[in-house]
Amino acid sequence: MTDVQQPADPMARLARSRHEFGEHGGINLSIETSATFTVLEAGKMPEIFEGRQGPQGGCFLYGRHFNPTVLVLARHLAAIEATASAYCTASGMAAISGVLLQACDTGDHIVASPALYGGTWALLNDYLPRKAGIQTTCVNLDDESALAAAWRPNTRVLYCETLSNPTLRLADLPRLATFAHERGALLIVDNTFAPLMMTPAIHGADVVVHSLTKFINGASDIVAGCVCASGEFIDRLYDLHLGSLMLLGPAMDPRAAYEVATRLPNLGLRVSEHARRALAYAQCLEALGAEVIYPGLASHPDHARYRALANLGYGAGGLLAVDLGSAQRANAFMEHLQNVEDFGYMAVSLGFSDTLMSASASSTSSELDAESLKRAGISPGLVRLSVGYTGALDDRLQQLERGYHAALKH
Ligand code: PLP
Repeated sequence: MTDVQQPADPMARLARSRHEFGEHGGINLSIETSATFTVLEAGKMPEIFEGRQGPQGGCFLYGRHFNPTVLVLARHLAAIEATASAYCTASGMAAISGVLLQACDTGDHIVASPALYGGTWALLNDYLPRKAGIQTTCVNLDDESALAAAWRPNTRVLYCETLSNPTLRLADLPRLATFAHERGALLIVDNTFAPLMMTPAIHGADVVVHSLTKFINGASDIVAGCVCASGEFIDRLYDLHLGSLMLLGPAMDPRAAYEVATRLPNLGLRVSEHARRALAYAQCLEALGAEVIYPGLASHPDHARYRALANLGYGAGGLLAVDLGSAQRANAFMEHLQNVEDFGYMAVSLGFSDTLMSASASSTSSELDAESLKRAGISPGLVRLSVGYTGALDDRLQQLERGYHAALKH
């Protein structure tokens, strides 16, 4: 799936793929807003419907199928993720649900990490069993014997996040890919937390999904997603009879595709700065005696794995978590930082220019029941910070320190 001729650096691959010109030779891509497309000869129409002609040959049919502007963005994302193909969706959840429904039929089984974004957790544990008869077993994927015990003859997918939300454990992708492939299953990886830092396809992932809503768009003004995979898998998603994205229809608007595409050239700068500051915040909190989770710290349980698997030059991600011991302290920490220091915002989501803070147990992981929260290591005092790059770093570190001391008074 991975082209060995391509540069190892994801932004270098993007630069090579960006030889796309606008309609009049403009240096930006054009926005094709049409929902439907003409043909010059009537005979072309059935050929497109039968799949003998398609977007690769410049034959477009209808906006929910393929759109030229969305396809340009998809090519850029495929270059970043080192996959042969990609396509975009209206949200990250549309990408995840579409991919899982494509990979599994009723009666099939998924093995997944228990530490997942709450929406994905609910999709796997509540929605898919009830609506589609697809069961999931969640196990600690680092525990090889538990993984083997959870595996069934009808297991089709091994699913994880590169960096788990919000516990920031780094998946051992090469081992998981081998495990899944030896059993004829797909490794599907959500790389939303680790764009550029990690390239899961290089480590064996078959399908990589993103919520583009986060770091990749970076402005918290668009909800969007993508699937990066082989050409064969992407084509299956758009099959007229059994394509889950074609038939469920979560199409990306071409105007959104244009916006996201124009922000990709500065993704490398943004990701590096998010990570530089996240490391500085993590070191500051650790020096104060806080329980910090950040893969760039030597104290992180997956630090060696991070050093072995991560791409050079993009740091260890823009997210960190700190366990303040109680929900009361977590709330005091966030309220002080937002309302007294103007350090950032209490808001879910991530990848924004300003810092966003949330207590995961009562927000983005609230879909998990108490036992699942415990199993995933999400305590009530855990605060997730998506570290922004606004303001002077020294000022921010002082604000953070004052926020930590304010929390300890509770
Ligand atoms: N994957 C992860 C890791 C997320 O954190 C989220 C949302 O927070 C999603 C997927 C869902 O993305 P979207 O909100 O774009 O549907």
